[in-house]
Order: sequence, then structure tokens, then C-alpha cells
Amino acid sequence: MKPDLLTVQNVTKYFPLKGGRGMVHAVDNVSFALKNGETFGVVGESGCGKSTLARVLLRLIEPNGGKILLEGEDLGKLNARELRSRRRQMQLIFQDSYASLDLRQKIGDIIAEPLVIHNIGDRAARRKRVAHLLEMVGLEPEAALRYPHEFSGGQRQRIGIARAIALEPKLVIADEPVSALDVSIQSQVLNLLVDLRQQLGLSYIFISHDLAVVEHVCDTIAVMYLGEIVEMTSKETLFAQPRHPYTRALLSAIPRPDPKRRGAHRIVLKGDIPNPENPPAGCRFHTRCPEVMPICKTHKPQPQQMKSSGAAHLISCHLYR
Ligand code: SF4
Repeated sequence: MKPDLLTVQNVTKYFPLKGGRGMVHAVDNVSFALKNGETFGVVGESGCGKSTLARVLLRLIEPNGGKILLEGEDLGKLNARELRSRRRQMQLIFQDSYASLDLRQKIGDIIAEPLVIHNIGDRAARRKRVAHLLEMVGLEPEAALRYPHEFSGGQRQRIGIARAIALEPKLVIADEPVSALDVSIQSQVLNLLVDLRQQLGLSYIFISHDLAVVEHVCDTIAVMYLGEIVEMTSKETLFAQPRHPYTRALLSAIPRPDPKRRGAHRIVLKGDIPNPENPPAGCRFHTRCPEVMPICKTHKPQPQQMKSSGAAHLISCHLYR
């Protein structure tokens, strides 16, 4: 049987604090699998570790523990040259298109850069490929001769997408790809990502703080809180039968025009996300959970695999012991 495109097993990333004062628990024991052609969403508030997870998956930063397998191959066992060649298969789209594009370079050079780095094609072939990539993301080929500041935020994000797909990757990790854009532009960029997935057979890991955004593009969704996945299931199940109190609170915050829908009863969480340098004992969500019980303050809930209307549903919460 063909292995999953990406398998993530118990991946952990801690950052040491200055002066040996302890560790920031950025990503803790995260596991999931991504199938070919699937879009996997990772959702949580800022500071929950989702962007660190993206960088660990690409091995832009090294994990402290766990395994990342690309088509069954353990990326941790590759040498630098092998890893560089596998990176062609995994590309990143950034949130801030302005910061991620070199403002002094022409668009054509920005998009061609991965081709140059991997020594693909001659100058003429690369120019042709750049023109084709620009058309694929809905821009004119002439855009190659212009500079990033001449484009709107949505257009710059399209340029970032063209660069990400230049090497024909299998997996694209999109880190908050539309959160810096106007709402009216967000759906255009999301539609482009969906179209490219179909055209190119891409798989995505889609990172967002906004459940309403991932609802439109993801097949499976993992909800993260303070470095841990607290709930993971299909998009349909998550929206129809959310179980974890944190997920329910996130869902209740989505504005819905129809008052009968879930957003009608907003669950307002107390306080801010705790400091990951010193996460709460027991369930990390207990300081804000509307359904907290005594056991939650002392015992960490273990992830349990359940079924919801036949769908696999992973949840870490004492309510479901
Ligand atoms: Fe709330 Fe307890 Fe469940 Fe944590 S384990 S989410 S505190 S009910």
C-alpha cells in the first residue's frame, strides 16, 4: 500500500529560555497523517505553536523529538544534500507577502529563484516557466518585469504562490496565507489555492487562526492549543459535532448570518492564552475552560480515538474519558 504523503509522529519542539530558566513548549507530541491530494488544517490562536510546527515539518528548524516521514522516508535520517533535494517536494507560502519577497528583485527573478537554486533549465526555459506560472496564478506574464511594490497585497500573495509551486512540489504548507488580506480578496486567493490543488494534484497543510477560513479549503482539521493537538477530525465532523470545549468556543466566534446556527450562542473564553514558558498543569486549557472539573487541574487528558457518526475523531479532554 502506498504510504501517506506526510506522516508526523510525536513531533516535539522546545526552545530553551535564556539563562537555562526552562523551556518554551512550542510543539508537544504532535502526530497526524496527510494523504495525497488532501488539505489538512491546523487551527488555533496566535502563540499555539502552529507556525513553529510548519517550520519543523519543513525542517527549517530541527525538532527535539519525533519523526517526520515524507512518502515513508524519514527526513531525520537524510544528510544535508538529500534533505535539500526532498525540500523540492515541500514548499512554504508565507503570511506576509511583503516581507517574504525581496523588494529589490523583479518578480520574474523572485519566481525563478527556486529554479536557479535547483539548477533547473537554462535562462530561456526559466523565463518561459515563469510566464506560465504567472498565468497559473492569474497574473499577466508581463508582471515578471515589475517589482513587488507595484502590486496589491492579493497580487503579491499570488506571486508568493507562483514561487511556491515553481518546483512542482507535492506538499505546500500555507502559513496564514490570507490573514493579511482584505476579506474581499481572501476568497479569491483561497479559490486559487483550491484550483491549483485540483490542477497540480497538490496537498496542503493550511495553518490559520480562523476556523471560518479553513472551513472552505480543508478536508481534515486539527485544533491546537499551547503546542498540543486537542481535537482532530474531518471538517464536516468538526463543524457538526465539535467536542472539545476550546473548539466549541472557536466555532461560536464565527459570525453566522443565520441565528439558528452555532454562532448564536457565543462562548467567550476567559483571559489570554497562558505563557507557553510555563503551561498550566493538567489540561493546558483548564485556566480558560467553561467546563473545567477538578481532575482537569491535576491530570493531563490523553488523546483518545473516538468515532462521531462513523468518522475518526481524536480528542484530548476528560469530558470523554
Ligand atoms: Fe476543559 Fe477539562 Fe476538557 Fe480540559 S480536560 S478541555 S479543562 S473539560
